[in-house]
Amino acid sequence: MPSRTLFDRRLPVLLAICLAAALVAGRFDWLRHFDELLLDRYNAIHPLGLSDDLRIVAIDQRSLEALGRWPWSRSRQARLLRRLKAAGAAVIVYDVMLSEPDREHPGQDRELARAIAAHGHVVLPVQPVSAAPAEGVRVLRPLPLFQRAAHALGADDIEVDEDGIVRRYYLEAGVATRMWPALAALLANSDTVAGARSSAGYSEQAALHWLRDDEFLLRFAGPPGSVPVISAVDVLEGDLPKSLLSGRKVIVGALDPSLGSRFAVPTPHGAGLMSGIEIQAQAANALLRPPLLVALRGHPLLSIELGLGLVAALLLWLTRDRPTAIGMTLAIGALSLAWFIALSFFNRWLPIAALAIGTVIAGMYLESARARRYRRDARTDRLTQLSNRRSFDIEFKRLWARCQRGGGRLSLALVDIDFFKAYNDGYGHAAGDKALATVASILKRAVGARGSVARVGGEEFAILLPDLPGFHAQRIAEEIRASIEAHCIPHDFAIGRGILTVSIGIATAVDGRVASSHALFECADQALYEAKRKGRNRVEAASIRRQAETPAAVAERTT
Ligand code: GH3
Ligand code: MG
Ligand code: MG
Repeated sequence: MPSRTLFDRRLPVLLAICLAAALVAGRFDWLRHFDELLLDRYNAIHPLGLSDDLRIVAIDQRSLEALGRWPWSRSRQARLLRRLKAAGAAVIVYDVMLSEPDREHPGQDRELARAIAAHGHVVLPVQPVSAAPAEGVRVLRPLPLFQRAAHALGADDIEVDEDGIVRRYYLEAGVATRMWPALAALLANSDTVAGARSSAGYSEQAALHWLRDDEFLLRFAGPPGSVPVISAVDVLEGDLPKSLLSGRKVIVGALDPSLGSRFAVPTPHGAGLMSGIEIQAQAANALLRPPLLVALRGHPLLSIELGLGLVAALLLWLTRDRPTAIGMTLAIGALSLAWFIALSFFNRWLPIAALAIGTVIAGMYLESARARRYRRDARTDRLTQLSNRRSFDIEFKRLWARCQRGGGRLSLALVDIDFFKAYNDGYGHAAGDKALATVASILKRAVGARGSVARVGGEEFAILLPDLPGFHAQRIAEEIRASIEAHCIPHDFAIGRGILTVSIGIATAVDGRVASSHALFECADQALYEAKRKGRNRVEAASIRRQAETPAAVAERTT
C-alpha cells in the first residue's frame, strides 16, 4: 500500500532533523544568540541576591569636581588607602594601573607603596595591552615597588561577547607562562591563587595570546548601580559611618565615564551600561553566592544534545497520529524540562535553541507529510486504490479541455461488472469487496500507460484513453474485457458461464463532434446500456453524430 512507504519514511527523517539540530547545538554555535537572549531574560527575571560585603569606592564626577582632575597625586592616593584601612576595609582591590613612576615626586611613590603594604590586603591589577598581532600581547603590571607591597596581583580583564554584551567571566587570565587570578576572584577571596599551569601544554602560538580559563556565566544582582557606591571624596574628607566600610570588600576605581570603560550588560529592559569596576564587583558577588552558573561544553554537551534530539524525535514519532501541535508541545516541553533541571539542579547552562528550532522543523515536516497523505487520500478510492470519482472528474475535465484546444481525440470507456448484486448476495459483501479490488488491479494492468482508470461508482469504472483513434480505443476496451474474462473469477450466481465478466460502453470525441464532456459521458453510458441489453460481457461503441452545441456546452468550452 503506498501510504505504508510514507508512514515508514517519517521516523528516519524525524531522527535526521532532530539529530542534526542536536549536532549544531553541541558542536557549533550558529544559534548561540537565541540562547544568549534566553540567558539575558533569565538573568533579568531572576537577579542574584546582593552580598552586603561589597562596596565600590568611586573616583567619580563629584570627587573630580571637589579634588581636581585625575590622576591624583600618589600622596593623595596613599591617603585614600590609609583612610580605607582606618575605616576597616577588609580587602581593597585598587583598580588603578600603577605602571609608571612619578619622576617628579619619587617620595610619593614610596608613600603609596607604604600605604599599600600597611593595609596588607591590597590587590593591584595587571592588564593585557593589545599590540600588533605578530607581537602578541604585552602585560601591563604595577611597578616592582608596588608589586612587592601588594598582597596579590589580579587580572583586570572583562570579556565582551561578539554582540558587545558582557555575559561571562573567567576566574583566571594571563599568558602561557603566567596566569593571574581575576580581580573579582581576589575581591571575593583575597587568598585566591591562580591554578598552576605548565606552559608545555601551550604551543608557541599560544604564548602570543592572552589566555582565559575557568569560565562562568555572570549573574547580575540587578541593573547598573546596584552595588553600593561611596565617592572617593567622601572617604578622603567625609565623616562616614564606621559600619559603611568596616569588614567590607572594597573595589576602588573610576566610575566617571571619562576615565573608565563602560560595558553593555543585560538588564530587565534590554542592555544597560555598567562600569568596569561594577562588573568586577558583580562578578565577585556571584562568586560570594555559589554555585556558579557554568556553560556546558565539549563532549558532555554533545552527548546531552544528541540524547535530547533522540527524545524529541521519538516524542514526535509517538504522537504522529495526533495533531502535530501535541507532539511539538511535548518535545519542546521535554527540552525545557532538561534545560530547567540542568539549570536548577546542576547549575549548568544548556543551550536548547537549536534543538527547539529543529523540533519545530521536524514538526513542520510531519505536518506536511500528513497533508500530502490527506491530499492523496482525497483523490484515491480506499478499497481499490484507484483514482476516485472526484479525481476522475478533474482529470476528465483537464483532458477534455486539452482535446478541445488541440483538436485531438479523447475516448471514455465505462466498465460495469455484470451481475454484481448477485455476486454480493451469493458470496457476501466482503467477497464482493475483494472481487472489486481484483477487477480494479486487472483493469489497471490492462490499461497500463495508455490511459487512466478510476472507480466512479459501486462496481463501475471509467477509463480515459487520450490521443487514440476510435478503433484503437475500442480494441483496448476489448482487450480489457477479455483480460477480465481470462482471469476466470468464479461467479456461480451469474447467468451464463459461471465466471465474473464486465460490460463496456465506449465513446470517442473527435473533431468537435461531441458538444461537451458531459455529452461524451452520456454517449459512453448509452453504449454501456446497449452492451448490457445485448447480453453483457461485451464492448459496445457509441455511434456519434455531430451534435448541436447546447449553451451549457459553450459555457464549458469557454471556461
Ligand atoms: P448488471 O449486470 O445489470 O450491472 O447487474 P448488477 O447486479 O451488477 O447491477 P446493480 O447496479 O443492480 O448492482 C450493483 C451492485 O454492486 C449493488 C451492490 O450490492 C454492489 N456494490 C456496489 N458498491 C459496492 C461495494 O463497494 N462493495 C461491494 N461488495 N458491493 C458493492
Ligand atoms: Mg452498476
Ligand atoms: Mg453491474
